[in-house]
Amino acid sequence: MSQYMMGTQIPYLRACNALRWEVGTGCSNTPDVCAVKATEAGCWAEKLAREKVCKGPCRTTACPNHEEHELYCTGYRNAFAPTFHRDALPALKRLRRPRNIAVGFGGDFTCLPVEDRMRMWEAMVEDERHLYITLTKAPERLTRQEEDLIIEHLVGRLWFGVSLTGDAERTESIAHMMAEKHLYLSGLDYWASVEPILEPPTDYSYRHDYSFVVLGALTDGKGRVVPVEEGGSKPEDIEAWVEWLDLGDYPELAICLKRGVPKRGHVNTIPQEWLVRAKDVSEGR
Ligand code: SF4
Repeated sequence: MSQYMMGTQIPYLRACNALRWEVGTGCSNTPDVCAVKATEAGCWAEKLAREKVCKGPCRTTACPNHEEHELYCTGYRNAFAPTFHRDALPALKRLRRPRNIAVGFGGDFTCLPVEDRMRMWEAMVEDERHLYITLTKAPERLTRQEEDLIIEHLVGRLWFGVSLTGDAERTESIAHMMAEKHLYLSGLDYWASVEPILEPPTDYSYRHDYSFVVLGALTDGKGRVVPVEEGGSKPEDIEAWVEWLDLGDYPELAICLKRGVPKRGHVNTIPQEWLVRAKDVSEGR
């Protein structure tokens, strides 16, 4: 498999046998865009970058891990600077079977220049076999050009995710902004990764907009919710979100609880469309 295509430990992506396509890595989001960035713990992608950054002789092919390390050398050596990997573009076509493809989870793809994002979308358009799962904390950066391409070619093949980090104002403004986007009317599948880091929102009405919700928290390497100090997520905040979901008369809403979120009899569900490809892969079709 290509160095730009890899498995993942993210539970809801693992559950559907998704591959991470590292076409873009790194992130320049500011704390007002990303509440995770404001915490000491930092984000999962950045930690991964720090751990994986190439420090050794593996910049030469003599290193047995050269292929994997090379990605991180080029992607992360600039302190997690947004980096577009042009070499990753053919990786989609090299896959033998249709897969669920998680796009750019090693950063936030909206930090890349628009022309590189267009190359990324175009590669997805060209390979019609896969189902694409994207996630961003800054959907407002999507240009009309990108929206038009998505509407014309990717509806039914793209699940567009927004990450909500729990600041009520930001969360609600994303909801309202999405509703105003051209994309919104297109029948595109939306999903939300909700990370109640600061506080639960006050306006819950927008939950109807999503076909899949991942309810999570910032967790440490052992799955514990962090931070617990003032200003950070508290167990009661997460409880409020769980209660919000409990109210649901939306049986079709797929809900996945991340590690560290108290279970309340929820069954973790993954969108049916994602499971179809996972089944095909596990059965070797
Ligand atoms: S936007 Fe995403 S990649 Fe960027 S700092 Fe926040 S969590 Fe990390």
